[in-house]
Amino acid sequence: MISPSPVPVAIVGAGPYGLSVAAHLKARGVAVRVLGVPMGSWRARMPAGMFLKSTPRASSISDPEGRHGLNDFRAAEGRAWVGDRYAVPLDEFVRYGDWFQQRCVPEVERAAVTLVEAAPNGFRLSLDTGEAFTARTVVLAHGFPPYARIPAELRPLAGAGLASHTSEHADLAKFAGQRVAVIGAGQSALESATLMHEAGSEPVLVARTAHLVFGDPPDSDRPDDRPWPQRVAKPATPLGPGWSFAAFSRAPQAFRYLPDRTRADLVRTILGPSGAWWLRERTLGRFPQLTGHEVVSAEEVRGRARLRLRGPTDTLEADQVLVATGYRVDVERLDLLAPGLRRAVTCRNAGAPRLSPGFESSVPGLYFTGLSAADTFGPVMRFVCGTGFAARAISRSVATAVRR
Ligand SMILES: Cc1cc2nc3c(=O)[nH]c(=O)nc-3n(C[C@H](O)[C@H](O)[C@H](O)COP(=O)(O)OP(=O)(O)OC[C@H]3O[C@@H](n4cnc5c(N)ncnc54)[C@H](O)[C@@H]3O)c2cc1C
Repeated sequence: MISPSPVPVAIVGAGPYGLSVAAHLKARGVAVRVLGVPMGSWRARMPAGMFLKSTPRASSISDPEGRHGLNDFRAAEGRAWVGDRYAVPLDEFVRYGDWFQQRCVPEVERAAVTLVEAAPNGFRLSLDTGEAFTARTVVLAHGFPPYARIPAELRPLAGAGLASHTSEHADLAKFAGQRVAVIGAGQSALESATLMHEAGSEPVLVARTAHLVFGDPPDSDRPDDRPWPQRVAKPATPLGPGWSFAAFSRAPQAFRYLPDRTRADLVRTILGPSGAWWLRERTLGRFPQLTGHEVVSAEEVRGRARLRLRGPTDTLEADQVLVATGYRVDVERLDLLAPGLRRAVTCRNAGAPRLSPGFESSVPGLYFTGLSAADTFGPVMRFVCGTGFAARAISRSVATAVRR
């Protein structure tokens, strides 16, 4: 079935970034079709029992009036305001996202976009419902899943069903009773290993870093309650306290002008691998942690995984390997874009789309937001706290183009 006239804007994805840009576009009077399962990644690709690493203040999805923050949701549920010392549980954040969606973007269609192709008057989108339609503008807000990265040395194990990426799991309790090698040192690795340990698995963490790093607990719930010398020395920002974080969160437009290499290094290293402050007690010393170890090769031996390591321990056997080595943006991995479109998108730094100040790619009318935009606008795009900057810039640019 092909819908007749083109819609002005199609948004692919109904996570924090897709919902936010939809809310901002609607406020500017631009008609949108929003496709995807609301908060789909948070429901299906994050482990049950997880807490957010970001503070409540930094976990609000941006709406044009600023009336749909996490604490507004809590107030609507009759619950108390929470500050920086509150760790937001995953199920609360999903309920909050649903509340935001129902109030700000009730028209979300729970369909998956299977293909986006160039068309004479914009783009042709095919859905898993069998419908196809044309949109003049497409905003890709598909999130992090297509970019999940499994290092080359572990891919043979993944093919044999003995290794998987953290983004493939919503229920880590299924590993109970199994010995699981967890690769990585970031929040996802540390929290996944901890959740598995607490659910009766035998995790063994393998991390290249010499020591595991955890954040410091906030001094107060409201950053403004800190003594003024502290506020000056380390200004509060959604990414954490500090002047470099202030620069990244307050001036993402300036990030665009840094040289390619510098941007790539900053996106990779700022907020490097570390666990949330509230995870330290539950993690440190609770299960084997092979810091200073690197996986060199991996093979299947009698139905189990055998890892060769560089480090004091040289071999590790496990029933399963959980890969928590993060995400790497690469447009080539976006199967939902037709190959011709993928090739037409100008990229930098091994596959990240180069975007205009309004988040438009080199293909007119094709926008990227969220993690895809981190190479252009910096680390703030990796987190929910970037939704306001992105949604304002995209909605301004798209509204201008649609009216032209
Ligand atoms: C384990 C983990 C923990 C995290 N913790 C935090 C945290 O504490 N704080 C924080 O700010 N950030 C956190 N993040 C980062 C977080 O993913 C982003 O902040 C946020 O989810 C980005 O929103 P998004 O809308 O870009 O992407 P997503 O949340 O990934 O949403 C993408 C949406 O697009 C949909 N979709 C994808 N492809 C299609 C398609 N073809 N058709 C239709 N729909 C599609 C998906 O179903 C999903 O609903 C975490 C990430 C991970 C992996």
